[in-house]
Amino acid sequence: MPDVAVTIVGGGVIGLAIAAELAPRHTPLFVLERNPRYGQETSARNSEVIHAGIYYPANSLKARLCVEGREMLYGLCASHAIPHQRITKVITATKPEEEAELERLYAAATANGAPLQRLTATAVRALEPHITTVGGLLSPSTGIISAHGLMDYYYHTVRAHGAEVQLRCMVVGLEKEPGGFRVTIQENGQTSSFTSEWVINAAGLEADTIAGLAGIDVAAAGYRIHYCKGSYFALPGSMRSLVNRLVYPVPTKHSLGVHAVLDLGGRLKFGPDVEYLPDRSLSYTVDPAKRAAFAESVRRILPMVRDEDLSPDMSGIRPKTQAKGDPVRDFVIVHETERGLPGLINLVGMESPGLTASPAIARYVSGMIAA
Ligand SMILES: Cc1cc2nc3c(=O)[nH]c(=O)nc-3n(C[C@H](O)[C@H](O)[C@H](O)COP(=O)(O)OP(=O)(O)OC[C@H]3O[C@@H](n4cnc5c(N)ncnc54)[C@H](O)[C@@H]3O)c2cc1C
Repeated sequence: MPDVAVTIVGGGVIGLAIAAELAPRHTPLFVLERNPRYGQETSARNSEVIHAGIYYPANSLKARLCVEGREMLYGLCASHAIPHQRITKVITATKPEEEAELERLYAAATANGAPLQRLTATAVRALEPHITTVGGLLSPSTGIISAHGLMDYYYHTVRAHGAEVQLRCMVVGLEKEPGGFRVTIQENGQTSSFTSEWVINAAGLEADTIAGLAGIDVAAAGYRIHYCKGSYFALPGSMRSLVNRLVYPVPTKHSLGVHAVLDLGGRLKFGPDVEYLPDRSLSYTVDPAKRAAFAESVRRILPMVRDEDLSPDMSGIRPKTQAKGDPVRDFVIVHETERGLPGLINLVGMESPGLTASPAIARYVSGMIAA
């Protein structure tokens, strides 16, 4: 008989959401987090947007879990007073050549379950008088949320069901044993181990490392994680009223494009850009030398913004399974029975819309355990 029922590696928004979903039915349950607090990595460094589900390929996990997660999130926010705002979003075409892409987005989003409204240039200007536009789309179901508010809710749900979130606890070993796994951890300089029937790998930027500990050839499996930084620049408070909602350009093949993000405190920032990192260091400094390139992207939408209006703000790192230039890949959420590792569920490449999708991901993982 294993010591614990479920071990979740990683106390980010996804690990905590899964723990909150499973804790009522699976005991003992542990979330193991290497940092002194939960949610200090990617889950604390993102746009905090409740995505509608517009951009993802039809029937992908990203599309399905985003649309489902979005509705679940609005429900959770309403019933548990999690700070959020259904602020909506405009996608603006800034030149006539982009209008065909608006039509493609409209069709794809509608098929995904993320209905959009077509807007003429006049209608866009009525909503957003300062932006450049030849026409656009309105996404009424896009919102913003406090990521920490959501994680606090998940955390308190986990604790209320008697499950543990073990902080400063680093998973360093994972071995298959009959009926489960031996999990080796390091805490306060001490190494110890225990057995667990289920292990759920929600280790974000280290999800490939954890899969590798279990003996998976991560390169062959396509689990290798490429660190892809996204930086933001902020505008001063005096320019906050340049937009009333989130404003995005028409996306390119590899990025949504630098867009206007408002947070719940009313701050207006632009980002994130796309920068594949040469190594796996968690370097969150925003390079001030990017200001001119940012300003140029921002002026596509807001022509009055000058270089000097922008100041370096925050950054986050996306855990991508695709290398630079490769086609976009879906979330990997796999119960590893076919690799001879029943009881191990890997979540790899949990980039955007992972925050939005978190409650739906939790339900999906719970379904794998119940199957
Ligand atoms: C720039 C940017 C913008 C984004 N914007 C949005 C957005 O607007 N909306 C949206 O829906 N999504 C967005 N996302 C995506 C979203 O932030 C992520 O999908 C989500 O936070 C991933 O959560 P996670 O729990 O998988 O990862 P993390 O938050 O990284 O959590 C993983 C945890 O595992 C822990 N860990 C790692 N290794 C070990 C180990 N060996 N032992 C113990 N613990 C370990 C880490 O310390 C970490 O806390 C954005 C992401 C980025 C980078």
